[in-house]
Amino acid sequence: MDTPAALCSSLDGVARAAELRMAGFSRRSIAAALTGGDMTRPRIGVYALPSLSRSERHALQHGGRLGCVSVAASYGLWTMPFDGDHLSVPPDFHAFDHAACTGVTVHWSGGQAFGRHRRRLPLGDAIRDIGRCQGPEGALVVIESAMHPSRRMVGEYELNLLRELWPEGRDVLDFVDTKADSGLESLMRWRLHRMGIPARSQHRIEGVGRVDLLVGDRLVIELDGATHGDPAGVSNDRRRDAVSTAAGYRTERYGYQQVLFGWPQIEAAILAIIEQGDHLHSGPGSRRRGTRKRTWG
Ligand SMILES: [Zn+2]
Ligand SMILES: [Zn+2]
Repeated sequence: MDTPAALCSSLDGVARAAELRMAGFSRRSIAAALTGGDMTRPRIGVYALPSLSRSERHALQHGGRLGCVSVAASYGLWTMPFDGDHLSVPPDFHAFDHAACTGVTVHWSGGQAFGRHRRRLPLGDAIRDIGRCQGPEGALVVIESAMHPSRRMVGEYELNLLRELWPEGRDVLDFVDTKADSGLESLMRWRLHRMGIPARSQHRIEGVGRVDLLVGDRLVIELDGATHGDPAGVSNDRRRDAVSTAAGYRTERYGYQQVLFGWPQIEAAILAIIEQGDHLHSGPGSRRRGTRKRTWG
């Protein structure tokens, strides 16, 4: 390594003063790297590349690494809402304070403390902390987002590691599925499951394509994310609903705010539909009303 910044780069972007000195860099060359903008110093004795995110630098200011739900967010994974930065500090380490702190949640959690991952906790350790910090729903949405075929950051091997890291998360780990197309869909499927109502992901309807969730024979639940507000999206949603209705389905649509902050209303609506048997072909609203037994399967 011919510069302090190159050594820093080889250490996941974070080097301690002692490591730079051990590698033979003088105080002068380290100071030159700082004034030249090749490195920053988030805290006394800790140097970092300027390319680190604001949250990663914030974690270093406190003597830790990015942790918990902040790690998931740093990978662009779907997360439950959270405030400030969540950090991880090894249990036997000291967490530092700093001036003008903008809000932080510190988790005293293990992981490969000073392994390759210096700027953020490895994702597996972070998921365990999310389960303990935000509960099973927080962990579920992150895991399914990481398992999505477009990412494949978590597969069978990682799930097995998670079973050891997070034994109390067994219900969630047994439930996860790669089919969920959004965190909102994961959350909805999980909450229905907790109510004892199985829902199938990404059911295919002729002329419509895949719908988010299907309960019973005919109750379609569509979850409207941020992209559903544009006129073309709304028009397409209405077309899909009309085709689904003509094919004998009943569609209910719920949005982000409603699922996250108005859940009791949704719960009451779905229970009412099921109570009426309207999720089944034998129910009151179905064209194919017949003699089928009422079941949730
Ligand atoms: Zn702070
Ligand atoms: Zn947390």
